[in-house]
Amino acid sequence: MSRTLDPAKAGIPQRDYPTMFLFGFIVLATLVGLPTYAYFYDFTWVDWTMFVSLYMITGLGITVGYHRLLTHRSFKCPNWVKMGFLIAGGMALENSALRWCGDHLRHHARCDQKEDPHNATLGFWHSHCGWIFWKDPNRDPKYQTRLLQDPLVVWQNRYYLPIVLIGLFLPFFVGLLYNGWIGGIGCFLLAGLARTFFVLNSTFFINSICHMWGKQPHSTADSSRDSWWISLLTFGEGYHNYHHMYQSDYRNGARWYDFDPSKWLIWTLNKIGLAYDLRRPASSRN
Ligand SMILES: [Zn+2]
Ligand SMILES: [Zn+2]
Repeated sequence: MSRTLDPAKAGIPQRDYPTMFLFGFIVLATLVGLPTYAYFYDFTWVDWTMFVSLYMITGLGITVGYHRLLTHRSFKCPNWVKMGFLIAGGMALENSALRWCGDHLRHHARCDQKEDPHNATLGFWHSHCGWIFWKDPNRDPKYQTRLLQDPLVVWQNRYYLPIVLIGLFLPFFVGLLYNGWIGGIGCFLLAGLARTFFVLNSTFFINSICHMWGKQPHSTADSSRDSWWISLLTFGEGYHNYHHMYQSDYRNGARWYDFDPSKWLIWTLNKIGLAYDLRRPASSRN
């Protein structure tokens, strides 16, 4: 009888081997491939320009697009702008917006509980990146219901793989054109794989560090914390205690001097007519 038991149905945790392999490859390429390449060849200004550009484009695609626009609806924008954010966020290799936003809504709804996808009460490793190496038995389609009404989100979910591949191989072709095969490999390593590693970890910091270390000036209802220095790496998402309290605010760092490039981008888009209905809570102390 035990040989026919379905482990998933029995509630036994299942490893996600494709994800483990993929992320293992990205970590190896960054920690071993990058210094090895730098020893034998030099990275060019093209490689560094592509790295910085794609770090900002894909990072803001996650924080402004996936997080503040699609998950929390903290502002509205024309469809072509939303499409841009969906492509930029997709290139970060953090899943399609449909799945990312569904998981994130569940994180807010069930924070620190069994259903929280990156439950910080299970420790740093689990909340940082350990959680992605297991198939999640608590994924609930109800968190995707509203997102499935959005044709652009459904479109991005269908074409997620090509979007990821464009993000990874665009640097290869740019490097190839500039400096031949060696240039292509270097640009792919730095602006494709290592850039993905750094953006991924910046998002992971929110789930781990910002639920473990820092102040709780706004609420102690859950483990979320404000860490201003994490905002320096995450386009302003370090004010996570504020964010858990005022989820639909288009700002995470609400004070004018808080380092929050995501709110500055949304504010700028608003000033040039590409974002509107920016939300701020009436009960915010700012
Ligand atoms: Zn959180
Ligand atoms: Zn959120």
